[in-house]
Amino acid sequence: MQDKLLVSACLAGKNCRYDGKSQKVDYVCDLVKRGIGVCICPEQMGGLDTPRVPSERVGDLVLSKEGKDVTEEFEFGAYEALNIAQEFEIEYAILKSDSPSCGKGRIYDGTFTGNFCEGNGFTTDVLLEHGIVVMDENEGKLWYDKYYKK
Ligand code: SF4
Repeated sequence: MQDKLLVSACLAGKNCRYDGKSQKVDYVCDLVKRGIGVCICPEQMGGLDTPRVPSERVGDLVLSKEGKDVTEEFEFGAYEALNIAQEFEIEYAILKSDSPSCGKGRIYDGTFTGNFCEGNGFTTDVLLEHGIVVMDENEGKLWYDKYYKK
């Protein structure tokens, strides 16, 4: 069992999504409340506003729905998340599915039509490249039930 896990802040009830809302999940809130979950929001940490125009990955770039290139902000936020993981020696993360930052295995396909493609968010890619295990919120729930549920 790990002392600390990275968690997407929006899953912990923080209103950091592009639309200024959260995607609250009770077990993630419990992890944060108990000091186990360490909140990250790579898009905010990369300097983007909240609310903000939504963005999607297009290959190695991230573009906003208005066509602005926000790749640099996404990269910066991804490495900030890695810095936090390394600072606290965190080896596992529970991140929000489908996001161009936090998604794992499936993300929005860059057309802003609600369709998906195979791939990872920027932060997920950086964390995986550095040996951190990334779970989405469904995989994380199984992990929580096994190791942390009281
Ligand atoms: S960047 Fe990650 S933590 Fe921030 S709102 Fe998007 S999915 Fe949630």
